[in-house]
This record gives sequence, structure tokens and C-alpha cells, in this order.
Amino acid sequence: MKIIFILLISIFISCGNQGKIPPKAVNGVLDLRDWDFEKDGVINLDGEWEFYWETFPEGDNLNLPETIKSFIFVPKDWNGNRVSYKNNKGVIEEKEIEGEGYATYKINLILKENSQFLEMLFPIEFNSYEVYVNNVRIHKIGELGKNKEQSIPKWSRKYTILDKDQLSNNIQIKILISNFDHTLGGLVNPIVLGSVTKIGALQSSSLAIDLFICGILFIMGMYHLALFNLRNEDKSTLYFGLICLLLAFRTTLTGEAFYYDLFPEATYALSLKFEYLTYYIVVPLFYKFLEYLFKSEFNDLVSKIVYFISFILILIVILLPPIFFSKTLLFIQIFTVTNIFIIFKFLISAILHKRDGAGFVIIGFFIFVLTIINDILHNNFIINTGLYTPAGLVFFIFAQSYLLSARFSKAFQDAKDARKLAEEQRQLVVQSKEEIERLGRAKDEFLANLSHEIKTPLVTIYGYSELIAMDGEIPETTKEYGSEIYKSAGKLNSYMDDVLLVTDLETNLELKKEDFELRDLVEEMVQNLDSMASEKNIVWNSDQALGKITCDRVLFSRALGNIMKNAIVYNQNGGNVTIRSSKKSGIFIIEIQDDGIGISEAYHQKIFEKFFRVDSSLSYEVSGVGLGLFLSKRIIDLHGGSIKVNSSLGKGSTFEILCSWL
Ligand code: ADP
Repeated sequence: MKIIFILLISIFISCGNQGKIPPKAVNGVLDLRDWDFEKDGVINLDGEWEFYWETFPEGDNLNLPETIKSFIFVPKDWNGNRVSYKNNKGVIEEKEIEGEGYATYKINLILKENSQFLEMLFPIEFNSYEVYVNNVRIHKIGELGKNKEQSIPKWSRKYTILDKDQLSNNIQIKILISNFDHTLGGLVNPIVLGSVTKIGALQSSSLAIDLFICGILFIMGMYHLALFNLRNEDKSTLYFGLICLLLAFRTTLTGEAFYYDLFPEATYALSLKFEYLTYYIVVPLFYKFLEYLFKSEFNDLVSKIVYFISFILILIVILLPPIFFSKTLLFIQIFTVTNIFIIFKFLISAILHKRDGAGFVIIGFFIFVLTIINDILHNNFIINTGLYTPAGLVFFIFAQSYLLSARFSKAFQDAKDARKLAEEQRQLVVQSKEEIERLGRAKDEFLANLSHEIKTPLVTIYGYSELIAMDGEIPETTKEYGSEIYKSAGKLNSYMDDVLLVTDLETNLELKKEDFELRDLVEEMVQNLDSMASEKNIVWNSDQALGKITCDRVLFSRALGNIMKNAIVYNQNGGNVTIRSSKKSGIFIIEIQDDGIGISEAYHQKIFEKFFRVDSSLSYEVSGVGLGLFLSKRIIDLHGGSIKVNSSLGKGSTFEILCSWL
């Protein structure tokens, strides 16, 4: 990218007119004796020309009346100059002239001895004119006339070689101009003189630059319109594409103006309309483009005013003839400068608000404006740096398209991210759905378990209480029945306690912490579970070093009790249950180890979930609803600790409670 810019800039620098400051005409004489056309290059015939208002030369020698001679600066329109003229009564007077009218320009060139072939470049002027060199007509554009009916303007840029006969040391050039179609009259653009090779080089380099810029703009325009076609919700590409195409078209009409070579029959009015319209439409379009990019920075009222003024100007150009619409030129120039300031203001606020790409636009815009200022100063001989507006325009267009590309790739990246996010969310939804289904299944299982678990003790209670009711006397068996009823009611009570505790823990109940000996608690639990343990001939082992702990005794005994109870019920007959405690780097560890059926690794996490029960023949025989370990974990979590299991099928399990609060 950088290399392209350096190349472009060096191409344009090499096209600039550098070196010796060219002399200017004084009192209608341009002394070029010191000017070497081969070494010093081409020269603009600028300066004071003789000027004869409302006069065309007469006679074979094309005489001009000395009495009405004035001097006028070229290149510049004649409007507003004070010149001599002959009034209706034949009296010479002075007056300030307007754009419309006719006149003769004259200049004497003093050349070096033995000058070789020279070539002149006559730029496009807004009028019709004829050129005489040493009283021989060499050039005619349009039809001269002394009034609107006779004068027919034409757009043309001509290169004319002055042959040996015309090249004396003293060359007299007379240019007869009539203008009734444009607000500006006179020689507005510079006439260039140079050696045939230098003028040829100038012509081909400026044509090359024009074609190069036109090509770049055209391709950029088509490319952005194609982008808009593919993704039409982003209008910035549409505006930008249109700006590029309009500027591409404008390049064909200005500079080397190869449009007129392609269409020599193009009429003056239409050509001028095209030239004005390409400018007048680009101004609001460019404003629209930036407004679209930085919407929040632009002011609606200002935008409306800009569009309204532009609309009126465009209408004037379309509907009115050149003599009228060309009067808007000064206005559009002021309007453009005002727009530049407005846009600068909005862009600066875009930068302050850190809007994407604002820096890029303002740099491109700033450099473009700088090149325009440079060219104005250069053309007015204030500095001698060369012409850079084309380079500025290309740089600016590149900066804009870079910004659009950056926006595009960001949009592309955003779309990619959005797709990724959507995919993640989809997966989350799938997971949540699976989780909901799993919880649903767990709830169903829980209900089935609970009903089954409640049903068995209920049947027992129902049966034994019926027997008690039927017996007249109270026999020995009644005590037995009573004890069965008591056991079953106890089971029911414990299930209900578990279910109630789940709800309590869910609402984060308050812990009632106290200090106590872990050994006391373990002994108490062993006693509580003694009858259950002796049924299976379980051997208890416990570590004597069990220390002091601080926690909610009631809840912690539930947590420990559930694990100890599982160590009995999921154990084999005559199995061992060992309870140990230790301290490692400030962390208290309690281990409950059994040598029972063990748990497959796939369930090491799941057994702590609500209602989960391992699907095995033994689990099925053992009564339970899958709440024991869930409650234990929840209680330990609430105390700031953690619980995990080390186990493998058939080899027993070790539950490990880790906590720093003990
Ligand atoms: P339950 O009250 O149904 O036993 P728990 O939450 O206490 O529910 O236990 C969940 C499951 O974990 C049990 O169904 C059982 O399969 C398994 N389990 C718990 N402790 C042990 C253990 N010490 N040995 C083998 N399996 C166990």
C-alpha cells in the first residue's frame, strides 16, 4: 500500500513544473530571451496582455486602434476590469466590463535567436476564439461574433506547432474572443508555449494522469456499486460508488478533456451542463456519504439546508442555459468551502467520540484539501511546488475505500462472531433442554421412589395397626407390631425431613455454628446407626485423633450421617467402615471409607445431584430417594467446604470432606 502511494506521489511530483521562475508579460511584451525551452521547459504566456474591448482587428495587417488599448492580466476572466472603449458617439471612454461581449488580446513575444520549432497549447476557454500568429490565423474555435446570434462557442483544446516561417525573434499573437454564453469572459486558462518535445511530453503525461485517475475512479466506482448490489443494507458503498463514477466522468471533461476527442460534436451547452453537474452532485453526495458513516455526529438541520441548496443549484444547471447557470459558479465555490468547514467540524467530533474510521477520513480529507491549497498557491506563482490535486484526490479516494473495506471486514468479523455466538447459544439451549428433560426424569423417578418408599411403611403401619385394633386383649405380639409401626413411621418421618430440608437449604437457611469435638459427633452417629450396622455385621473403625470443629452441629450431623449410613447400606455383610481425620496445609480432611460395592467413575459427580440414584440391583433393594448425598454436599458447601468421592466398582468408596472451617 505504502509503496503504491510513494510511486503515485513521485509520478505527480515529476509532472510538476519545477526549477526557474518563468517570466511574465509586462505591458503586452513577454521577453523570453533568457528562456531555454529545452532546458527550462514549457512556459505559460501569463502576465499583462494588450486588450481591445469590443474591437476586432481590421485590414490586411490586422490593425488595432492604439487609442483604446488597455492592459489585462491573463489567465483570468475579463469581468470587472476597467478598460477603454469607443462609445456610440465614437468617443473613447473607460468602463468596468461584464462577462458578455467581445475583444482582442495581443501579446509580443521576444524569443532567443534561432529558436527551433515551438508548439502552443490552447486550453479550453468558455468562449469562441481565433488565434493569429504574426497576422496568420493558426487556430479557430467556434464562430466569432459581435452579438449573441453570431457568436457560437465551442469546447476544444488545441495543440498547434509554430513552423519556421512563423518563428522570427519577435512573435505577435492576437486572440479574438467573443463571449455571450458564459458568465466569465476572456482567457481564463493559461496558454502554454514550449518546444515540440516538451509540449508532447506535457500532453502525454497529463493525458496519462487523466486516464490513470479516470481508470482508478471508474474501477473503484464499479467495485463499490457491485458491493452495494451484493449487500444493499449498507448504503455507504452506493454513495461512494456514485461519487467515484461521477468524478471519473468529470475527469474526462476537464484537464486533457478527452471526452471532446471521443465526442467532437458535443454541444457547448450540454458539455458545460455535464461539467457543472458532476461537481454540483458530488458535493451533496459526498456530504451524504459522510453523514451516513457518522450519522450521530451530523446535525439534521444543517444536512437539510445543504441538500436543499444543492437541489436548487442542480435544478438551475439542468433547466437554465449556460449564461445563467454559469453565474452560480462563485456561489458553489463558497458553498463548497463552507461544506468543508462543516464536515471538518463533524469529523472532529467523530474523532473525539472515537467513531470507527473517523481518523482515516479526516487524514484523507485534510491531505486532499492541502493539495488543493498548494495548487491554488502554485497557479498564482506564490510557491513553485508543482500540481498535486490529482494525487490528493487519488489518496483521498484510497483512504475512503480503505475505510469502507475496513468496515466491511469488521462487519464480516461481526457476522462470524455472531454466528459463533448463535452456535454457542444453540448448544446452550440444547444443553438446557437436556438438563430440563433430565430433571424432569429425575423428578418422575423421585416421585416413583417416594411413593414406593412411602407405600411400604404405610402398608406396614396400616396392617399392624389394623391387627392391634382387631385384637380384644393386648397379646405379646402387639409389642412387636408396635415396634414395626414405630420403625415405618420413623422412615416416613426421615423422608419428610429430607424433603423439608431440601427446601430449607434452597432458601439458604442460617447456620448456627458452635464448637464441638468431632469424636463425640462420630460416636453419636455410630450409636444411632448401630442397629443398622449390626444387621450387616459392619465393623466400625475410627481415628482417635479426630479434632475439634466449628460448624452447625445439627446440619453437619445430617451431612455426616447420610454418608455413614450409605457406607453401611452399600456395604457387604461383615464389611468395614473407617472414619479418619487429618490436617494438610490448614485444610481439615474427614474421610469416610467403606469396602462396599463402590461407584463407577461415570457417577462420581452425579451422585451428589438431587434425586440421583445409581441404577443397580443393590440400590434398588436399598430404600432411598436420592437426596442423602445431595443434602450432605449442600450442607458442606454452605459451610464453605467441599466433598468428593474416590471409588471404583467393587472396591469400596472413600468420601472426602475438605474444609478450612473445621
Ligand atoms: P439414597 O438415599 O438413594 O441412597 P444418596 O444421595 O445418599 O441417595 O446416594 C445416591 C446414590 O449414590 C445411591 O443411590 C448409591 O447408588 C450411591 N452411593 C452413595 N454412597 C455409596 C457408597 N458408600 N457406596 C456405593 N454407592 C453409594
